[in-house]
Amino acid sequence: MSKAMTMLYEVYDGLYVNLTNRCSCRCTFCLRSQGESVCGSDSLWLEREPTFEEVRDEFAKFDMSRYGEVVFCGFGEPTEAWEVLKPVAAYVKETYGLPVRVNTNGQGSLICDRDIAPEFAGIVDAVSISLNTPSPERYAELTRSRFGEEAFPAMLDFARKVSRYVPEVTMTTVETTLTPEEEAACQTICDDLGVSYRIRRWVEQGKITK
Ligand code: SF4
Repeated sequence: MSKAMTMLYEVYDGLYVNLTNRCSCRCTFCLRSQGESVCGSDSLWLEREPTFEEVRDEFAKFDMSRYGEVVFCGFGEPTEAWEVLKPVAAYVKETYGLPVRVNTNGQGSLICDRDIAPEFAGIVDAVSISLNTPSPERYAELTRSRFGEEAFPAMLDFARKVSRYVPEVTMTTVETTLTPEEEAACQTICDDLGVSYRIRRWVEQGKITK
C-alpha cells in the first residue's frame, strides 16, 4: 500500500476532501479494500491526518472556480476528523462560497460521544448518509461497526436530528443490492425521518458514478 498526502482530489465537478483513514466501520464492500485511489487520484491512504492549516493551504493550489461543490469524502469516515472538518467547511463557505456536502456513515455522534448534529448548522449544506439496508441485522453484518447494534438506530437518529440544521439530507442505498421490497422499506424509513432517499449507482475502483 502506498501512502501520500492527498487531501483534495477531483470527482467530476466536485473537489473532494480526504481528511482521515479512520472509520468506525469495516464494511464488506468498502472501496478501500479494492485499491488506493478514486477517479485517477493519487493514493488516498494518508501518511498522517492533515491539520486545518494544511488543508486550507492545499485549496490555494486549485482553481476553485472550476468546482460546483466541495465534498468531504475520502478513504475513511469524515466525522472521525470532525474537529478539522468543521473549520475547513467554514473556511470553504466563507472563502469560496461553494456548497459543502458531507458523505458519512451517520455514526458521527457515536464517534464524538456527543450529539454533533447542531454543529452542522451554517457550515454544511448537504449530508449524504449510507443507509445500506432497512434491516438492523443486515446493517450490522455489512458494516461491522465497532459500535455493534448501537450503530443502526444511532445512524437513523443522526439523520433525523441533522435534518433540522442542514437543508438537504439524503440517505442512500446502492442499486442492485436490495430487493424492490427492501427499497420500499428504505423509502418508508426516510419518509418517517423527514429526509430524502436516493438509490445510487455502484462505485467501482477508479471510477465513481453519481
Ligand atoms: S463507512 Fe465507508 S469508509 Fe468506512 S468502512 Fe464503510 S465504506 Fe469504508
